[in-house]
Amino acid sequence: MSDTPSSSGMISALLQEERRFPPPPALAATANGKADLYERAAKDPLAFWAEMAGGIDWATPFTKVLDWNVPWAKWFVGGTLNASVSCVDRHALGARRNKAALIWEGEPHVAGNLGGETRVLTYGDLYREVNRAAHAIRALGIEKGDRVAIYMPMVPEAAIAMLACARLGAAHTVIFGGFAPEAIRDRVNDSGAKLVITADGGYRRGNVIPLYDNVAKAVEGTPGVTHVLVLRRVGESVRPVTLTPGRDVWWHDALDAAPPTPLEPVMVDAEHPLYILYTSGTTGKPKGMLHTTGGYLVGTMASAKYVFDLKDDDVFWCTADVGWVTGHSYLVYGPLANGATCVMYEGAPDWPDKDRFWQIIAKYRVSILYTAPTAIRSFMRFGTDYPKRHDMSALRLLGTVGEPINPEAWIWYHENIGGGRCPIVDTWWQTETGMILITPLPGVTTTRPGSATFAFPGIDADVVDESGQSVPLGSGGYLVLRRPWPAMARTLWGDDERFQQTYWSRFPGLYFTGDGARRDEDGYIWLLGRVDDVLNVAGHRIGTMEVESALVSHPSVAEAAVIGVAHEIKGQALAAFVTPRFGITPDDALADTLKKHVATTIGAIARPDQIYFTAELPKTRSAKIMRRLLRDIAEGRVLGDTTTLTDPAVVADIRERYDHSEA
Ligand code: ATP
Ligand code: MG
Repeated sequence: MSDTPSSSGMISALLQEERRFPPPPALAATANGKADLYERAAKDPLAFWAEMAGGIDWATPFTKVLDWNVPWAKWFVGGTLNASVSCVDRHALGARRNKAALIWEGEPHVAGNLGGETRVLTYGDLYREVNRAAHAIRALGIEKGDRVAIYMPMVPEAAIAMLACARLGAAHTVIFGGFAPEAIRDRVNDSGAKLVITADGGYRRGNVIPLYDNVAKAVEGTPGVTHVLVLRRVGESVRPVTLTPGRDVWWHDALDAAPPTPLEPVMVDAEHPLYILYTSGTTGKPKGMLHTTGGYLVGTMASAKYVFDLKDDDVFWCTADVGWVTGHSYLVYGPLANGATCVMYEGAPDWPDKDRFWQIIAKYRVSILYTAPTAIRSFMRFGTDYPKRHDMSALRLLGTVGEPINPEAWIWYHENIGGGRCPIVDTWWQTETGMILITPLPGVTTTRPGSATFAFPGIDADVVDESGQSVPLGSGGYLVLRRPWPAMARTLWGDDERFQQTYWSRFPGLYFTGDGARRDEDGYIWLLGRVDDVLNVAGHRIGTMEVESALVSHPSVAEAAVIGVAHEIKGQALAAFVTPRFGITPDDALADTLKKHVATTIGAIARPDQIYFTAELPKTRSAKIMRRLLRDIAEGRVLGDTTTLTDPAVVADIRERYDHSEA
């Protein structure tokens, strides 16, 4: 075990194994998920997935559940379907016709509207708009098998465009609206998109993002693009744009020209591409994951239903941008396949003030909130006065995704946002997995702050050592998946070789996640961070997560990133980059206090040699800490791929201080 990420038990106090949160009894009685799901799925996983597949609409039933030839999977063989039918048609043409599908809130405040502009699209509205958009996109030459890039603000038309592509059998590739022209160009060229759908602009933290201008620059270098479809979001007076005749078309013109009749959905094979999505780039150059139709929809529909316990009267808010997989699976496909009401918010959580999220929750009586640990840590930093201003009594369930959640942040979220009454689902998954794979089930699982708990029914997650053998309970290793699952990525677009190499070669026959994990004596899974980030101090393997959580558990600390730097004697020494909470002045005394705090919480071995205070940590556009850039700085290397870095100034600033302090 010496060379796998281990945790020798020294962290148990920190990981709060002792703190347990059993499901509220009332929820246990009504929750969609019951304990028997696990048993049934374990007994016969394929029968379980076949049963789940009954929850979506098929045009032709499948004849075989799985065809598996490692690492190539075909799920629901012989089945045909169209994703937009399960997400839209069956609700719009049934009892949910006048139920809200999307409740959208714009960022700029509007007088008298308790916040921003509101738009509500019922399932009937969504059906009409998806059909009109599909007609318009087809009129621009897009057919089954083509690719369409979507670079949009967080507006309903982003979801409409995705569903319209799906209706035509064209794969979408959504590019996060914060990316610059070069990143757009790379993704458009890599995916081979013929059409780019964008907008004149979008609001973010009081600014207008020049989306159209970025696309116009990008498409100078994309020979395959024939058309650009442009939504007018901010308007001529805010951001005038000049379209290129012949290439560019206004969204409203194209949709107004569409026939009033629905567009017959193009039925596709279960394995037909639904979308390509590029990973966040936390660990290196982004990878274009290919997701297909049948398995993906079954996986996202079922996980949304059981993990979020979706009920017809819920108001579900997933705060992720549609540009990330969380936005694909739990803002669009999963909840809509369940006929749920989803909130979509255009802008920043701290605009115009730091209580914007809580205001939105109160305004729409959001009952389920799904957000990221990084957001929760920012809210902790802002303090508890902001949530206290609003009535959040409608909340009944909270979720997190994206990074390990520090136990301290978990407790804060539970108490200050969930009022101590809402269960928290800490959900582990990846762009590659398409759906949540490790998670509590509300109503079933007793949670422990900081643990993602157990594999979803039908999922075989394991923690293994260097040779691929399961490690005993109570120890750590590499997180792997032993069995295929329906929503798994089928390949890396255009690069089967790299797909096989990256995920399927480290442990023959197993999917390697790249994450370190530990299973406690009761089998609970605790994510320890990226394997690449694991530290080796004097022969002890320490997960970044453990030391960071110790730092965050100190009342002066909002956020921390820990890396290893070469050390003559110890092999590696720990350096910590720390963001203090508001109102705290960082100084040498605080640095000493924090070093001692880590030593008493975890052990002397984990005591950081250096603590650097910084106002921000370098993060990906999806808001994950990029420790690899901190390592590059600490070791004086040229920075690795920075295309998905949010704010280059943060890195420049850290580099300057670091160099200075080392001198
Ligand atoms: P890249 O693969 O390009 O480096 P990325 O891994 O950040 O980027 P995503 O697919 O968005 O791209 O993120 C998946 C990763 O996020 C997981 O492998 C894991 O490290 C982390 N993660 C997600 N959810 C959780 C969670 N609940 N607990 C711990 N880690 C999580
Ligand atoms: Mg990854």
